[in-house]
Amino acid sequence: MPVISRIDLRGRTLTTAELRRAIPRAPLDVAAATGAVEPILADVRARGAAALRDLAEKFDGVRPTHVRVPAAELEAALARLDPALRSALELAATRVRAGHTAQLPRATSTDLGPGAQVRQRWVPVRRVGLYVPGGLALYPSSVVMNVVAAQVAGVEGLAVASPPQRDNGGLPDPTVLAACALLGVSEVYAVGGAQAVAMFAYGAVGSEEADGGDGVELCAPVDTITGPGNIYVAAAKRAVRGVVGIDSEAGPTEIGILADAGADPDHVAADLVSQAEHDPNAASVLVTDSLALAAAVEERLEARAASTKHGERVRTALGGPQSAIVLVDDVEQGLAVVDAYAAEHLEIQTADAAALAERVRSAGAIFVGAYSPVSLGDYVAGSNHVLPTGGCAHFSSGLGVMSFMKSVQVIEYTREALAAVTEPLVALANVEDLPAHGEAAQARL
Ligand code: NAD
Repeated sequence: MPVISRIDLRGRTLTTAELRRAIPRAPLDVAAATGAVEPILADVRARGAAALRDLAEKFDGVRPTHVRVPAAELEAALARLDPALRSALELAATRVRAGHTAQLPRATSTDLGPGAQVRQRWVPVRRVGLYVPGGLALYPSSVVMNVVAAQVAGVEGLAVASPPQRDNGGLPDPTVLAACALLGVSEVYAVGGAQAVAMFAYGAVGSEEADGGDGVELCAPVDTITGPGNIYVAAAKRAVRGVVGIDSEAGPTEIGILADAGADPDHVAADLVSQAEHDPNAASVLVTDSLALAAAVEERLEARAASTKHGERVRTALGGPQSAIVLVDDVEQGLAVVDAYAAEHLEIQTADAAALAERVRSAGAIFVGAYSPVSLGDYVAGSNHVLPTGGCAHFSSGLGVMSFMKSVQVIEYTREALAAVTEPLVALANVEDLPAHGEAAQARL
């Protein structure tokens, strides 16, 4: 059986809606996972830390002694951090900080006549819950992406949650802890999956001495939850949206590659495999107008899947219905396909890649040309790796400072400026049958 299937769209003229249906997608989508996460959310809401411990035992195979990681453990993890890894995290943080500082929005002020002014200013949310995955793989890089973006936005209260690890005594991964300490985050929880999202959305009280006592507030609710995760994390974020703000639904990873005959098949195969190693539900999609490239990539995929460390996971992801090589007539049709797909990560490996990239409307992030692999953006490019999946890039953006900010409009009119617009104000109030609105303005004049 081939390692990846083909979808042949050559010679077919499809509408955007038909294209969206023709593109491979995982059968376990966020809607399908909602049923699994609802009881988890309800349990944490009802029983706080007691539920968090039970769920950790069930899903992570370990019962944490400390739901909140003690400060001494954070310091110890930082002290033990390998110096080369510390430098790598520092480089990633420096670049992400620079990339995100440039995103900070500016306040605006508009004069609408003498004495009539509206302004808009931007404020960070007060407290955020940042999710750092840690089921199949470990993600200290996600600490950098979440924390630095929130810090640049000016958020004061930062809490991180990451699944407890069996081989670290029920604490999150040591490098995740070290990255938190390195970036100055002291509120860290050994909680994973949907239960972490519930804890952040509703808050949680303790159940044991290690939590500070039974019924004592262990984790205060947050305003916004961000961060990537598997399908259960994405489903839980969707379920609590409205109770709190969320960033995009950053679920199981996806790569779309638009490549022509000039692309290097080994590089293309390496990038498809690098996303497939995240998760059996990960999606790797190549869109090409070159049969020769498709055949060469299939060959290289076989070789790479056979030799890579997580070969079994890679084979499952590549062989799943969410992954495919899509054959198109030409690069123009390919562009329509990738735009309809709205991949979390889109690589363009064609002649004129930069010009094509400008024409893409929907993608979480675009990687242009032969030397911008997705793994660069995962770690040290200076962009953010928490990106919308499952087609959400049609309407949402990757994590950035704006994920943590909201605007406040400020209206300031003088008596004369109010008088100048009272007549139309009253006319609109009367047509809506809200005469007291007009009277509130007239009373001042
Ligand atoms: P994770 O931390 O997201 O998930 C682990 C948790 O999933 C466990 O703690 C458990 O609570 C929960 N879980 C597992 N099986 C469950 C079940 N049957 N029912 C309910 N809950 C269950 O770690 P992971 O599994 O390694 O996944 C990380 C994911 O993050 C990958 O899919 C990866 O592609 C994705 N990711 C996405 C982005 C992005 O920006 N879109 C970035 C990085 C990583």
